[in-house]
Amino acid sequence: MRAGLGNGAFFYTSSRENFSMHISIITLFPGMFDGMVTSMLKKAVDEHILELELIDLRLYGLGKRRSVDDQPYGGGGGMILRPEPLAAAIAAARERIVSGSDDRQAPVILMTPQGTPYTQTIANRYAKLDSLILVCGHYEGVDERVRELLVSEEISIGDYVLTGGEIPAMVVLDSVVRLLPGVLGAEEGAAHDSFQNGMLEYPQYTRPLMFQGQTVPSVLLSGNHGEIAKWRTEQSEQRTRQRRPDLLVRK
Ligand code: SAM
Repeated sequence: MRAGLGNGAFFYTSSRENFSMHISIITLFPGMFDGMVTSMLKKAVDEHILELELIDLRLYGLGKRRSVDDQPYGGGGGMILRPEPLAAAIAAARERIVSGSDDRQAPVILMTPQGTPYTQTIANRYAKLDSLILVCGHYEGVDERVRELLVSEEISIGDYVLTGGEIPAMVVLDSVVRLLPGVLGAEEGAAHDSFQNGMLEYPQYTRPLMFQGQTVPSVLLSGNHGEIAKWRTEQSEQRTRQRRPDLLVRK
């Protein structure tokens, strides 16, 4: 399932053909993703739905030391990722996507706190694509020409700064893959999830019936599916109005 390519890149794949989506992640820390391929992602790989490729940016580094970063022009602290290794890694990702599918136009998504705030709407759009290339920044970020010349979209997972783009890429990976047909069973499908229809999900209950003096709303025990659906819609609207009125404005 985890297959090395002999050049530092490795795949999580069950077949090099007939998968629904290919995602390449360009990162200085490919090993960070190993622990992630369990549960839902593992199922997606095992069932030929997802092919995941981890590309080690270091392998495209310059010189004997495979350098990927340098000091900023104009001074200031920190290091900046140089454009040439990133360009070579993106080209390599495209090459392999082309050999596995017909999609030469896989968008290149840069993880950056300066990007478009990530939402379920964007996840739904990505889930309809054949392939995606996610680029993880590090240090002080990437040379501006990477944004200008190599990147199709820039995504932020929130208004805070992380050390690297790996956790943001994991967020995109997880949220997209769970939307791919066949990954979640019909019952646990994403259709009712928060944000899918522009609202928060209704409250959920399971056993026991009584917990610390609190019981379960009687309608959920009624067996009346029409009433249950009505209650859930009302709860969903009420919860969204209380907690996230901005979602109702956007609808
Ligand atoms: N100096 C950059 C700035 O102020 O915009 C921040 C660089 S950050 C320390 C290093 C890398 O982490 C970024 O290049 C990006 O890939 C990733 N990163 C950090 N915070 C992120 C966020 N909120 N969303 C997406 N990526 C983020």
